[in-house]
Amino acid sequence: MSDLNGKVALVTGAASGIGLEIARHLATQGAAVAIADLNLDGAQAAAEALKAQGHQAMAVAMDVTSEEQVNKGVADVIAALGGVDILVSNAGIQIVNPIENYNYADWKKMLAIHLDGAFLTTKAVLPYMYENGADGKPRGGVVIYTGSVHSHEASPLKSAYVTAKHGLLGLSRTLAKEGGKKNVKSYVVCPGFVRTPLVDKQIPEQAKELGISEDEVISRVMLGNTVDGIFTTVEDVAATVGFLAAYPTAAMTGQSFIVSHGWHMK
Ligand code: NAD
Repeated sequence: MSDLNGKVALVTGAASGIGLEIARHLATQGAAVAIADLNLDGAQAAAEALKAQGHQAMAVAMDVTSEEQVNKGVADVIAALGGVDILVSNAGIQIVNPIENYNYADWKKMLAIHLDGAFLTTKAVLPYMYENGADGKPRGGVVIYTGSVHSHEASPLKSAYVTAKHGLLGLSRTLAKEGGKKNVKSYVVCPGFVRTPLVDKQIPEQAKELGISEDEVISRVMLGNTVDGIFTTVEDVAATVGFLAAYPTAAMTGQSFIVSHGWHMK
């Protein structure tokens, strides 16, 4: 596939898990990829691996909750790779606890990483996307947020996560309406459970909170409502992002796409 030749993609939280596979996938579609993460060593290793395969890639140190780091990171990407045509706002964490025990500091941290991070990265790339290109028309671009089935559905213990992931729908839909005239498209991709470090950490935590075994957390809580009893894969999610990043018209802008092996349908 080469449908993103000449495009530049910035993926946050791309040193690990879903973001890492999205970065790889967009690179195989021809995009130059900026791998932004808190974990600079991981981002550098990922960028080096892509470069070794002949792709154009760079690592960016970025805490998505820091306006200064986001603005600097985006400026560095534009300077090094020539622009930002695709933003994948993907960085995220998980903290599980029932509401009555949920620390206020954890609540604020969750909303900051998922929502402030999405807002700040979006705000930082829009001036480039809105600016006129060589043809005198706005360059445009694509912004894709990693939501979750929890953008549409709730689960116990995840108040902050569910709130933040629902919030991304609002940001994406607003951007779709504001950015439409400037040829900016916006989507939320909503995975089911994907076996990444973020999920591995939750399995014992949920088992303890819910008073069930780790196997039951997997078979009942995580996969019980899927049609095939298997985890969504990083490849499932990356292929969806790649499809949307390359989709030529605004026919689907503002939509969210659930990638969950039938767990949730909407
Ligand atoms: P992961 O832990 O494998 O990767 C998350 C990455 O984000 C890490 O590299 C981490 O260093 C980075 N990160 C964390 N805080 C950051 C910050 N403040 N600034 C920059 N980078 C930061 O997790 P994952 O499962 O790949 O999750 C990626 C996204 O997918 C998250 O938004 C998550 O909510 C979402 N998601 C995951 C699942 C799942 O089952 N794994 C399901 C639905 C949605």
